Amino acid sequence: EAYATNIASGPGSKHKATTMGFMQGKRALIMGVASNRSIAWGVAKAMHNQGAELAFTYQGERLGERVKKFAQEVDSDIVVPCDVSSDEDISNAAAAVAERWDGLDVIVHAIAFAPREAIQGDFIEVVDRESFKIAHDISSYSLTGVCRAFKSHFRDNGSVVTLTYLGALRVVPNYNVMGLAKASLEANVRYLAGSLGADGVRVNGISAGPIKTLAAAGISDFRKFLDQAQQTSPLKRNVTIEEVGNTAAFLCSDLASGITGEIVYVDAGYNMM
Ligand code: NAP
Repeated sequence: EAYATNIASGPGSKHKATTMGFMQGKRALIMGVASNRSIAWGVAKAMHNQGAELAFTYQGERLGERVKKFAQEVDSDIVVPCDVSSDEDISNAAAAVAERWDGLDVIVHAIAFAPREAIQGDFIEVVDRESFKIAHDISSYSLTGVCRAFKSHFRDNGSVVTLTYLGALRVVPNYNVMGLAKASLEANVRYLAGSLGADGVRVNGISAGPIKTLAAAGISDFRKFLDQAQQTSPLKRNVTIEEVGNTAAFLCSDLASGITGEIVYVDAGYNMM
């Protein structure tokens, strides 16, 4: 609340503080909460703090009960299944959300997957046609599929945000096929921004620094990513899911109404070193 107040009135402002968050009145669908370390959970908490109403999707039965508990913590009871490898699941999820909400404002896409064998070792040896297809399908195409399914449900000034990583642009050891998929995802952000702009929907990506999550644990030698970012970044530290979450909240709010097709780095400055 103190944070929302500072944002609304500026720290030390003479103006009377307001407790309204900058996402008050927004409805946001969060895709990709798997644990309390998930970036999607950092985004959910930040958007909730700024007054947004939330809904969640999860993949597979296993996660359903867990995600319902997370949803309760941020006053949400809209939790629907969606395995993004299935067109049917994506359209069912859009229909299920439409049953509860007569329109939505925000979609947060925090989903990625590549077979474990393809994200360790020498790129040319470990990436095959199948791992390439799976990584691009789940980690990039899914954004297009989701945006199409929800296109007619957006209210005015809609916004979509996805999560990417520097491995889209640079050769990062072991990141391998996921780097290719993230490059595709970043192009996807620009094409979707071009396509959905006429409907008033903005599409942006956040390129996050390394954060220890379940997905990150699948990448060989991930500890080295964290150590290197900590040593080399201007801020000499790693970033948190809360910091990524706050940036996502900003990008999906009307404060960012002039920003679309952009990749914003939340990496303590590492990418420019
Ligand atoms: P995470 O907590 O493991 O989240 C990844 C999510 O993707 C999980 O909820 C996972 O669900 C979901 N997912 C995978 N395949 C799916 C499918 N077919 N259908 C629906 N959901 C599926 O890890 P995270 O690090 O927060 O990842 C979120 C996003 O941030 C990813 O795009 C990741 O590449 C990106 N990112 C992460 C980092 C980092 O260092 N952690 C840095 C930059 C960008 P299941 O658990 O059920 O598979």
